[in-house]
Amino acid sequence: MNLILMGLPGAGKGTQAEKINERYNIPHISTGDMFRLAIKEGTELGQKAKEYMDQGELVPDDVTIGIVKERLEKDDCNDGFLLDGFPRTIAQAEGLESLLSDMEESIDYVLHVKVPEENLVERLTGRRICPECGTTYHVIYNPPEQEGICDKDGAELVQREDDQAETVKNRLKVNMEQAQPLLDYYDEKGYLVTINGDQEIDQVFRDIQAAIEKQ
Ligand SMILES: [Zn+2]
Repeated sequence: MNLILMGLPGAGKGTQAEKINERYNIPHISTGDMFRLAIKEGTELGQKAKEYMDQGELVPDDVTIGIVKERLEKDDCNDGFLLDGFPRTIAQAEGLESLLSDMEESIDYVLHVKVPEENLVERLTGRRICPECGTTYHVIYNPPEQEGICDKDGAELVQREDDQAETVKNRLKVNMEQAQPLLDYYDEKGYLVTINGDQEIDQVFRDIQAAIEKQ
């Protein structure tokens, strides 16, 4: 089962990725983890990527795709994989297609966990964090016992700058503009499955299962 997971920040991708990993025993491969592993293992491509990152530059596609290839060739991908955060561009998607066809593999589904933008804003701006112990809360979904106060140590909760409304809206806009061409690309190829992410976590996962187990 070769899957790609897409969705905007706050859509609950991470939670669903964990569930997919548990149920289907395929590794959840996020871009960040993939780079960290390549750098840690000191592969040639990992070192190249690190040079770019250290200089604050974008890692070129050929390096990134090479790192993806090394990751997908590992034993834990024998039954498939779940890519998250890659590809980000059409060029990367095409690179992935040709690398998979070299491996005599192909993508089965691109799962797009979709949540209306206004709900994402509500989810993302409601986050609060304890500056003392790092516990995160949510004003609606996971509130502390006493408003604005950490349950564990009584510290006053704060909102990260990243979680403030204007920043959140901007981040979503940039992400949407980036994702749309890719969604169109996969839709045309017939891989795209849109999942309603605006439901209970377990229901979202049941919808994912129904989609990918349907033959
Ligand atoms: Zn605390």
